[in-house]
Amino acid sequence: MKKIIAYILAAAVVVALVMAGRTTAMAGFDDTELTARQVEVHEAAELLRELGVNENDPAITALQEEWWRCDKLKGARYLGTYAVTGYDPYCAHCCGKADGITASGAVATEGYTVAMSGDFPFGTRIYIEGLGVFEVQDRGVGPGKIDVACDSHADCYALTGRYKVWVVNDG
Ligand SMILES: [Zn+2]
Repeated sequence: MKKIIAYILAAAVVVALVMAGRTTAMAGFDDTELTARQVEVHEAAELLRELGVNENDPAITALQEEWWRCDKLKGARYLGTYAVTGYDPYCAHCCGKADGITASGAVATEGYTVAMSGDFPFGTRIYIEGLGVFEVQDRGVGPGKIDVACDSHADCYALTGRYKVWVVNDG
């Protein structure tokens, strides 16, 4: 019983940590803060493991995701908030063609290819908060906008919204 209470308390701390970190990231951050946060997150995960929490438990998974989120943001350049939409690169209705060939010549990869304005050279890697890392391979959108290659129209609609965006240099 004590163990269950300890777990519930630890899980509450974990959730609070993750939420606090997201607020911090929105307000601006530097690499020192990110490293400090990674240590915090790692220690919280270790605490849960000591309490016997399974490695696949959502609380531990959330901490691991937060650790990687911090890692991606290191050395990243914050661009601002972008209007993000999705497109199916193999749909003639979306693209006027269905071959999946992007403006860069690369074959579009769903969940990885994005279209941005000419301000961003092909090959630029960006991190969209909550969505992951993508590569600029396509054009057709104006400044302040990003179009993400998706598997389906349902996925396109699901991700449509405004997101914080960074340029990352993680190769
Ligand atoms: Zn379409």
